[in-house]
Amino acid sequence: MTSPRLQKVHRLLKDAGLDGFLFMNRANLRYLCGFTGSFGALLVTHHKTVFLTDSRYTTQAHQEVRAQQIIAYRLPAEGIVAQVEALGLRRIGFESETLTYEQVQCLRSRSPAVCQWIAETGGLHTLRSVKDADELAAIEGAASLAAAAFEEVLHRLRPGCREREFAFELELAMRRRGAEEKAFDIIVASGWRGALPHGIASDKLIARGDLVTIDFGCRWQGYHSDETVTVAVGAVDPELRRVYDTVLEARNRALEGIRPGVALRDIDALARDYIVAQGYGDCFGHGLGHGLGLEVHEKPTLSSLSDAVAEENMVFTVEPGIYLPDRGGVRIEDLVCVTAEGCRCLTRLPKNFRILPA
Ligand code: ZN
Ligand code: ZN
Repeated sequence: MTSPRLQKVHRLLKDAGLDGFLFMNRANLRYLCGFTGSFGALLVTHHKTVFLTDSRYTTQAHQEVRAQQIIAYRLPAEGIVAQVEALGLRRIGFESETLTYEQVQCLRSRSPAVCQWIAETGGLHTLRSVKDADELAAIEGAASLAAAAFEEVLHRLRPGCREREFAFELELAMRRRGAEEKAFDIIVASGWRGALPHGIASDKLIARGDLVTIDFGCRWQGYHSDETVTVAVGAVDPELRRVYDTVLEARNRALEGIRPGVALRDIDALARDYIVAQGYGDCFGHGLGHGLGLEVHEKPTLSSLSDAVAEENMVFTVEPGIYLPDRGGVRIEDLVCVTAEGCRCLTRLPKNFRILPA
């Protein structure tokens, strides 16, 4: 019986008129055959799956990989081309965003003249965007682990604490609770640094009256979480408070608009139009969100340029923000799963305005 995941690849082969597809992206390898190592290749044809790797990973591959055949190669291109010839493949797709120019040139130069290597992006973008039950459980598990760690260390966010110290405490708390790794460099952007949408934790000391944006997540069972909370340390400037309420309302409007069949660019517009109407249109430069799973950033993308449509069990972030240069900023980020009727938040930290003692 072909797994639903491989069926998606078979459909891709058919739609693109390919004899086979070469996967080398780590997340795709894990998704399609269970391999968790850092280097290998999976060749999928209409009737066969062959996994190839080198001697560092053969034992691991025999334990983990679901494929009809596992082959050890000396050189990747040599091993892959030998299989392509043995299987008589002529049109072979590859991941244009993963393979380097050099890798592709190497495959082409070693292949028989009849072989065509075809760069593929379109069909691949949707491969992992709709999640199955196991994936949803892992993402939700990662999100609740990270949230519990956040609540555990939040009391340390006081005037005089360095952004980097807080980030370190949060990372430790996530690891102690069983996280495999932080999902990305934790963002702790306080006061004026809040205007930097990707202000990775610095040496800046938290000060009374700062709004602090904390964007964090962890990896658990191979899956990631991603959530952003903005909190006040003591009383803040009334305009920043107004900015907070604007971002929160934009987030609420986006969440209310999510359901299967809605264009993702329209969900982006629900949040964006509100922010524009409040006079902060120039202060929200990034897209509303991104897909997430085995990678922190994956398809689909939520922006004005997105051409994807929400489907049941798609997982993506909703993260509107307003950034006022030199003054501060607010971002609120949740992770949602599209349901039959709307959406469900996989992140559970409260998003109402929160003032910490200072
Ligand atoms: Zn984030
Ligand atoms: Zn994000």
